[in-house]
Amino acid sequence: MPVSDFVGGGRTFRLGYDCAPQTVPSPLKELSLSEIPSKPPVVTEVVIIGAGPCGLFQVFELGLLGIGCHLIDSLGTPGGQCTELYPDKPIYDIPALPICGAQELIDRLMQQIAPFNAPLHLGQEVTALRRREDGRFDVETVLGTRFDAGAVVIAGGVGSFQPRRIGVPGADVFEGKSIHYRVRDAASYHGKKLAIFGGGDSALDWVIDFAGKAASVTHIHRRAEFRGAPASVAKMRSLVDAGAVRYIEGLADSLITGGDSFAGINVKGTDGAMHAVDADHVFAFFGLHPKLGPIAEWGMELEKKALKVDTEKFQTSVPGIFAVGDINTYPGKKKLILSGFHEAALAAFAIQHYLYPAKKQFLQYTTTSPVMQKRLGVPH
Ligand SMILES: Cc1cc2nc3c(=O)[nH]c(=O)nc-3n(C[C@H](O)[C@H](O)[C@H](O)COP(=O)(O)OP(=O)(O)OC[C@H]3O[C@@H](n4cnc5c(N)ncnc54)[C@H](O)[C@@H]3O)c2cc1C
Repeated sequence: MPVSDFVGGGRTFRLGYDCAPQTVPSPLKELSLSEIPSKPPVVTEVVIIGAGPCGLFQVFELGLLGIGCHLIDSLGTPGGQCTELYPDKPIYDIPALPICGAQELIDRLMQQIAPFNAPLHLGQEVTALRRREDGRFDVETVLGTRFDAGAVVIAGGVGSFQPRRIGVPGADVFEGKSIHYRVRDAASYHGKKLAIFGGGDSALDWVIDFAGKAASVTHIHRRAEFRGAPASVAKMRSLVDAGAVRYIEGLADSLITGGDSFAGINVKGTDGAMHAVDADHVFAFFGLHPKLGPIAEWGMELEKKALKVDTEKFQTSVPGIFAVGDINTYPGKKKLILSGFHEAALAAFAIQHYLYPAKKQFLQYTTTSPVMQKRLGVPH
């Protein structure tokens, strides 16, 4: 999905990406140290971990104060829960927007932050965060991208989203080789025998896409009802009727292997029979679930899997590390987008003070501040 260009106020904004959304490396496959080219770290004022609505708005609030940042997310597209869990649902409690689709909110935020050109590093889980003696931070992602940051904002929501696994014995050995949770290079599966599990849009879209291109496509879903778009269900059924796709209603039971080699998967049908599915590759599209992951290991005080912050700066127990949005907790915390927006505004001022303690702080209005308007690229 091309999300890097936004037109607003008669101008087109281009956002910086270092990872194409369609070529997201699986967070399950960590590169070995020898595979990681050792590039010098990216030096920046702030690193924001998490590109959900609150991480995106943090870019805006920092940008208004003239503070630059890099934004990192383990997912292949920005938007956090809004994009991953309920993109088409309407939100009714965003101030001044009586009704706004969840994806629309993310698109609007992307447009709002475009003037600040914050580079987005997608498909990269942040795995390491260390505070140095000089008060700056070393940040590292699963792909080995390193940052030297003056301050860090954790906007990690409910954690980084991980694919739900197929859950058959021995699957871990073949994950990333013959068992996959996303399609990275579709053309490489053409001419292969494929088994595709799932009843949502991802499973249906790939069944339809691969039909006729793969040597064979078997679609497996646990029940008669599908979560995906009715038009896709109808298309899939027509492909089954035409003999282009084999369909089995059932659950993954066990792998068919010959020692180290992968040969397919046994499916226990709802009819009680065991069906052997001959396959070179298995795709499981069972959705994503959030996992707090490495954030829990970075030495900050936690309460019920959330980072404890104060309500003046939204700073964690580690000076220079701030937390906004669903990831934080404080007395009276409500996990709402508008709460995260407020937190981001106050955190930005606190970050400015952390980075530049001698700098006098002014409250400026975007309506009247020429400096802020210049930063926003408002034409005069
Ligand atoms: C069905 C549903 C309906 C909702 N409706 C509303 C509503 O009407 N109004 C409302 O105010 N709120 C609503 N919410 C809640 C709202 O979506 C959340 O409050 C909001 O998404 C929190 O934003 P966030 O930016 O803090 O976190 P998230 O949206 O969770 O984004 C966090 C991001 O951080 C990334 N991340 C985490 N750890 C790492 C790491 N180590 N490295 C890299 N990236 C990482 C994740 O991949 C994710 O993209 C709803 C939630 C759901 C599920």
